[in-house]
Amino acid sequence: MKALQYHTVGAPPEVVTVPDPEPGPGQVLLRVTAAGVCHSDIAVMSWSADQLPFPLPLTLGHEGVGTVAALGPGAEGVAVGDSVAVYGPWGCGTCFMCAQGKENYCLRAAELGIRPPGLGAPGAIAEYMIVDSPRHLVPLGDLDPVRAVPLTDAGLTPYHAIKRSLPKLVPGSTAVVIGTGGLGHVAIQLLRAMTAARVVALDVTEEKLALARTVGAHDTVLSDAAAAPTVRALTGGRGAEAVLDFVGAQPTVMAAGAMAAVEGDVTIVGLGGGTLPVGFGALPYEVSVTSPYWGTRAELIEVFDLARTGAVDVHVETYGLEEAPEAYERLHEGRIDGRAVILP
Ligand code: NAD
Ligand code: ZN
Ligand code: ZN
Repeated sequence: MKALQYHTVGAPPEVVTVPDPEPGPGQVLLRVTAAGVCHSDIAVMSWSADQLPFPLPLTLGHEGVGTVAALGPGAEGVAVGDSVAVYGPWGCGTCFMCAQGKENYCLRAAELGIRPPGLGAPGAIAEYMIVDSPRHLVPLGDLDPVRAVPLTDAGLTPYHAIKRSLPKLVPGSTAVVIGTGGLGHVAIQLLRAMTAARVVALDVTEEKLALARTVGAHDTVLSDAAAAPTVRALTGGRGAEAVLDFVGAQPTVMAAGAMAAVEGDVTIVGLGGGTLPVGFGALPYEVSVTSPYWGTRAELIEVFDLARTGAVDVHVETYGLEEAPEAYERLHEGRIDGRAVILP
């Protein structure tokens, strides 16, 4: 089969032919319908050989949907032909966190060598993929696979991030989304669907801000040195009850802290490597800062249920498998509107 693989540290990913995978005991083989392209893959491909926690080559893609093509011995709970989405943050399934459905925070994944597809295990940007357990599949039902596939990460990750701030996002509150790309443009829609907050979106170009307005941002602000004072002025000096940073670079995390309200939440989702000092004088009183990873299995089901109501519509740009390297190049250059989705 054809697959998009990251072969050599520092080199762009390439379309290669690899043997068709066969499902082992307990595993499920999917014929991939669609796979999303996430900026985290670009972060992974920027790491040095020493930083890479898994061997190459790696088939990319940690957002995947498909139809069940075959079941390995003993695998049950899905049937050939089912339309399913892959819950990507695979865990052991039995530790204290996994028992709560929080496989994204599995306590034993590292020790057992369990890695998400596309981030260590072979990923979804291929004609077929192996899913380690039917537990990691969620039925798509009547959802359009192409528009639904980004929900497995670009939907789930902001959903999980927003959920912790829901009690603070009361009428009259403000939520800021920094970086309105794949995750951010879904975050805006989730905030509009789940809260009464005024949503302020920040990005570096007018094109990105136009998409932010299309998907529901009340206000848009260019992300520069004046952004924090601008958000403070927009909120009558109060600041934002929740700031979600989908960039995570040093200037954006500092701006996030500077625009937070007293008792506000700063949630750093982007892997930009910025760090935000906490301590008296560093931030407004009682600001809470966190950096969450992906989301839980139950939350993915919730995101799909929300999408079924029509409240979330991912803007997708589709590419064939042969064009996948170009999709990564465009994402790297900031030229994707919404999410790039590969149709293998
Ligand atoms: P993307 O490239 O689609 O979107 C990033 C957006 O940020 C773009 O619109 C870009 O123009 C904008 N941007 C860049 N610099 C900016 C700045 N200084 N100020 C404001 N906006 C700026 O990327 P994505 O796939 O949505 O991923 C977003 C980030 O989230 C990445 O760092 C990715 O690695 C990370 N991520 C984290 C998790 C997690 O679990 N924590 C999960 C998925 C992705
Ligand atoms: Zn991702
Ligand atoms: Zn576990």
